[in-house]
Amino acid sequence: MATRRLILLGAPGAGKGTQAQLLMQDLGLPQVSTGDILRAAVKEGTPLGLEAQSYMNRGALVPDAVVIGLIEDRLARPDAGGGWILDGFPRTPAQAEALDGLLTNLDQSLEAVVLIDVPEAQLIERLTGRRTCPLCKRIFHVRFNPPPAAPPFCTDHADCPSELVQRPDDTLEVVSKRLNVYRESTEPLIRYYQQQQKLTSVDGDRSPEVVYSELRELLG
Ligand code: AMP
Repeated sequence: MATRRLILLGAPGAGKGTQAQLLMQDLGLPQVSTGDILRAAVKEGTPLGLEAQSYMNRGALVPDAVVIGLIEDRLARPDAGGGWILDGFPRTPAQAEALDGLLTNLDQSLEAVVLIDVPEAQLIERLTGRRTCPLCKRIFHVRFNPPPAAPPFCTDHADCPSELVQRPDDTLEVVSKRLNVYRESTEPLIRYYQQQQKLTSVDGDRSPEVVYSELRELLG
């Protein structure tokens, strides 16, 4: 049987979200992305969103207690009972330890952690060139996946007339900060999961389709 409880680990821009979406469609497991949950809270202007926004816009991590609370709520929902794909969590050793404790309480176990490995120069190019449609959420890239209509529009105006935007944390300055945070706070998790003998890695410096086929093979 395919793995049903897994973490996608990797730097910002490594392709965790893209791979998680493909797995979600294929395996019918929910993608649990703390970044998406936080962005939705920011958009709705909830107290959580207001607190998170200042950290996110400057590329810092939202405090552990906040995101751990979010994950506790999310994994307790019925659709997470049969498994999940964690994307963007855990990001610190404290978050990883909290997840271990939570799973013990739920009598569940983490089955795999897959590191999506991408060289830093490539991460910078991917993130700073990323453009998103605020309406339909499609993701483009100024070079690798340019929008079909004349930039900066999403499509030919008939389908989605929206002007593409750059995420506030995808500017070069904030991207550099996010990569530093990754190196300092999240990279130690590689060793953490190696010690638990749960870690495997894929070379993420290839097309999403090629990365996905290797990932699928790894997960059985
Ligand atoms: P992402 O979309 O995963 O790149 O996350 C965007 C931003 O949300 C990050 O730069 C952090 O500010 C915040 N964030 C997302 N997940 C976490 C997490 N597990 N711990 C702390 N902050 C997070």
